[in-house]
Amino acid sequence: MCGIVGYIGSRNATPILIEGLKRLEYRGYDSAGIAIINKKKSLKIFKEVGKIIELERSLPTPAETFGKTGIAHTRWATHGEPNLKNAHPHADENKKIAVVHNGIIENYKKLRKKLETKGYNFSSDTDSEVLAHLIEYFNRTEKNLTLAVQKALKLVEGTFGIAVINEENPNQIVAARKGSPLILGIGNNEFFIASDVAAIIIHTKKVIYLQDGEMVTVDKDKFELTTLENQAVKAKISEVDWQVSAIEKGNYDYFMLKEIFEQPISVENAFRGRLNEKLSTCRLGGLSMSGEELRKIKKIQIIACGTSWHAALIGEYLIENLARVSVEVEYASEYRYRNPIIPADTLVFVISQSGETADTLAALREAQARGAKVFGLTNTIGSTIARESDGGVYIHAGAEIGVASTKAFTSQVTVLTLLAVILGRMKDLSPTFGAGFIKELKQIPQKIQQILDNDEKIKQIAETIKDSTNALYLGRGINYPVALEGALKLKEISYIHAEGYPAAEMKHGPIALIDENMPVIAIALKDAIYDKIISNLNEVKARNGRIITIATEGDEKIKEISESVIYIPETIHSLHPLLSVIPLQMLAYHVANLRGLDVDQPRNLAKSVTVE
Ligand code: GLU
Repeated sequence: MCGIVGYIGSRNATPILIEGLKRLEYRGYDSAGIAIINKKKSLKIFKEVGKIIELERSLPTPAETFGKTGIAHTRWATHGEPNLKNAHPHADENKKIAVVHNGIIENYKKLRKKLETKGYNFSSDTDSEVLAHLIEYFNRTEKNLTLAVQKALKLVEGTFGIAVINEENPNQIVAARKGSPLILGIGNNEFFIASDVAAIIIHTKKVIYLQDGEMVTVDKDKFELTTLENQAVKAKISEVDWQVSAIEKGNYDYFMLKEIFEQPISVENAFRGRLNEKLSTCRLGGLSMSGEELRKIKKIQIIACGTSWHAALIGEYLIENLARVSVEVEYASEYRYRNPIIPADTLVFVISQSGETADTLAALREAQARGAKVFGLTNTIGSTIARESDGGVYIHAGAEIGVASTKAFTSQVTVLTLLAVILGRMKDLSPTFGAGFIKELKQIPQKIQQILDNDEKIKQIAETIKDSTNALYLGRGINYPVALEGALKLKEISYIHAEGYPAAEMKHGPIALIDENMPVIAIALKDAIYDKIISNLNEVKARNGRIITIATEGDEKIKEISESVIYIPETIHSLHPLLSVIPLQMLAYHVANLRGLDVDQPRNLAKSVTVE
């Protein structure tokens, strides 16, 4: 679930591993550790609960931590408390073999019992520790780490990304994956292992993305890629296209803030090259379906989790409205365990920023197993979802480091909007609509910038709600999922309980919560249902509710019912979400910041959720 880094070469591994772990901090974790093989060919393990900086501070002298081969880990506990004994790396009893593991060993109890009856003693509560003992067990007879790892993994059920070292062969790292991402970085006479390119991008951009069921044996001067069954695999080297600046904060206090402010560019990148002005429509190369095939689609299912699920709900409004195709939006975690019906001529979309979300990946596989064509919408080139889907579209948002997703959301919405227009233009939408849409879309980046320029005002409003314990977000129509997303942002980073509701639903329950202490944040833009939402807000006002509105520039009347108003520029209805969500992201950021919280690493959350 969290992070792995490994190094083998002629430099000192320790500072490289620590630096790599820091680059993975954004993913959220509770403890960290490193294992190196030192000059005396002895395995040394250092661990600490809490931040990487604590681990770094706890390290003994550089001489004692010097080693040219090492592995490191940030843990996001799934089995056993986040304490020192459960932190990785885990080792065999003689402290010769060390293992770091991301993922979950589902049958660990059975394996642990078996090993205990053979006389093995365990020193942690984790599922991962069985790997260390199992590998040691097989290595006794195999005397070959690669073969021992293969034999051990054959017994394992669950998901894993692992890296293993053995002091008896100090110039080697063995790494393997199933379900959790892992990459090999190729440097100049040195190699890196990482669960995420961010960990190693300052050293090399040449990488091999290991595929599920593959492993790599890395020696000082060569590597060998095989399957877990020891079949040779041909290496495909990719070039990472991120700049190092993408994973640095620059002048911003937090990655989340930087990413919020990047949205004029990231939204533009999501539609760049995808507008067909001649035919007044859009194009998405990755769809790889002919017009004829696309016209035949009777139904679309969109499967996602969290913020991506909110983007999917906006997609539902857009596609149904513009293309008149029925859309069903599903939580990936639910989809995979029920018995979903996928009628003929259904197109399935899965959305995941990381392209590694475990539930979404499982839903993709389930839909494919039932014969559906599945398209992926991800931000991560070479990710598992990108590889396994039958086609797909990259959102090109660039590295998103803040755990609370912002720019990936607006990029997902942009791509779904393009999709709705493509499908719509094949059917009932007129060229005039298409041309008008393209004209408006091209102005969105600059309109987002206008909202960002209002940062000081939004911060002042944040000041007025920062001590609340509850908040209600209201929206209607296409802005209802935006209200859900606004509430999620506030929850995630400020720990204030927040709910999103369709404004008219409020009177069926949540209105009971309204009093002078609870801020109600309402999206009330000038559109066909403007008057309806104003009526809903009057109901709040009548009960002494505090109303903060997101309103259309020039709407003076709304001031009468609002404690404060955040104005956003006018645009066409279909593009509202791309603007209305921006002030909600900024509000959540400022509230969390004013409460003194770590915005980039909210408690209990992880960036790419690779466990169920
Ligand atoms: N399941 C393992 C544990 O709880 C690994 C968790 C992780 O991926 O960080 O220790």
